[in-house]
Amino acid sequence: MLTHNQLNNTTTSTASEKHLSVRSPLDGKLLASLKESNKAELNELTGLAQKAFIHWSATPVKERVQVFYNYLSLLRENKQQLAQLVQLENGKTLDEASAEIEKSIELTEFACSLPQLCAGQTMEVSKGVECKTIYSPLGVVASIAPFNFPHMVPHWTLPNALVLGNTMILKPSELTPLSSLKIAEMLESCGLPKGVLNIVNGGKEIVEAICDHPDITAVSFVGSTPVAKIVYKRATGNYKKALALGGAKNHLLVLPDAHPDMTAGNVVASMSGCAGQRCMAASVMLAVGNVDHIITKMCDEARKIIPGQNLGAVISAKAKERIEHYITSAEQQGAKILVDGRNSLVRGKEKGYYVGPTIIDHVSPEMSVATEEIFGPVISIIRVNSLEEALAIENKNPFGNAAGVFTQSGALADRVIKQVSAGMVGVNVGVPVPREPFSFAGWNDSKFGSGDITGESSIGFWTQLKKITTKWNPEAKVNWMS
Ligand code: NAD
Repeated sequence: MLTHNQLNNTTTSTASEKHLSVRSPLDGKLLASLKESNKAELNELTGLAQKAFIHWSATPVKERVQVFYNYLSLLRENKQQLAQLVQLENGKTLDEASAEIEKSIELTEFACSLPQLCAGQTMEVSKGVECKTIYSPLGVVASIAPFNFPHMVPHWTLPNALVLGNTMILKPSELTPLSSLKIAEMLESCGLPKGVLNIVNGGKEIVEAICDHPDITAVSFVGSTPVAKIVYKRATGNYKKALALGGAKNHLLVLPDAHPDMTAGNVVASMSGCAGQRCMAASVMLAVGNVDHIITKMCDEARKIIPGQNLGAVISAKAKERIEHYITSAEQQGAKILVDGRNSLVRGKEKGYYVGPTIIDHVSPEMSVATEEIFGPVISIIRVNSLEEALAIENKNPFGNAAGVFTQSGALADRVIKQVSAGMVGVNVGVPVPREPFSFAGWNDSKFGSGDITGESSIGFWTQLKKITTKWNPEAKVNWMS
């Protein structure tokens, strides 16, 4: 386990007096106190990253990727320890934390395949004249991460950006910075040259400084929609390349012919996994026609999920309060709470932040539980009479990260696939996260900027194309395009 002293060794010294307290959501205990980075430190680290870029970008991609092969082995060897750290700082269960590390491994495997994907093109375009393309790195880039996947989200950006020749400023969530520090420490031990990856700690101020920094060329962001909008606008306003992934309100359409056990299990796992703190979590269930038998099974499933046992904590006392407030407001507006996760306490961890799985029935489309991102283990059931009605509600919601349908009809599933307004769609899958090499990103207010954050699409984001035309045969005639 990472100790406080090890943490301090991995941070650079700063003149700032401000400190960040990192607490475990599991029991409220203080895990670490980190120096908050200020503008001077960002300047210093960006300068180091610029210097490192000169050598790193000139290193052939096949050499750069060797660091990540070493890193892949280290990730596999330390899976358990890394999962424990994620659990400690984020509050999810150990199984969920282990799955997060598995995904980081898969993302790193993809990064290791980049030399195969970024070879560029070459063609003899006229006699003795050749055109070729090179994917050139951008320079110093930034990655800003949220709290909910402290290990995986940095792996959406960092391995690809670095293998492609960039150097990076990584800004983890101030609530969960420890996994990022560990990632930097591990990469350094794998041979990543100093200055290629740099971590700054803090919140709003340091993010704004990143967006304004003249020597940072691109900014990727993952977090809530209001902040995604601010970051995208500020970074592009400063003429940077930007991609900002925002929040979500994912709708699952449950049709009467859906397989009852599979549907109940998947919907409940989707809404309660990681305590509902996933941008891919089910938040609204559109119950088409009579699906009471499935709802009964969902309640049975939800009652088997016990905070502190197979359900982790939510990130903070503030988050617990916010989630419970949403449930209470739905109740006051006439919705029916079928399973109530409010006031959950875990014996021996009374200072932890727990909310049990919550199923709210008879929600109307205007209620705040139906329109706003709750980010907790809560699902709101809206009853509708037809598929058209369900699709209209889904289409009207401003987000567009994920959507799903539960049915045994291929034709109905196909209609939903074509008509939902979301970037990632599940058929009988509650959490339709694409596995590599399929890329990740939503639509609408769940993403600002073009392209996806992972997969081949990320090559376009982290590089710019250089087009070279060459002629070595002086005897060749000047032609129409010379
Ligand atoms: P957040 O928006 O509060 O914070 C994200 C990052 O922005 C953090 O690093 C934080 O320090 C920084 N930040 C916070 N407020 C800021 C401000 N006013 N100005 C500049 N920077 C600021 O998000 P969070 O609470 O850490 O994470 C949860 C959110 O992230 C949810 O909305 C969730 O849906 C979303 N999320 C989206 C995806 C996706 O792929 N679309 C993935 C994971 C999480």
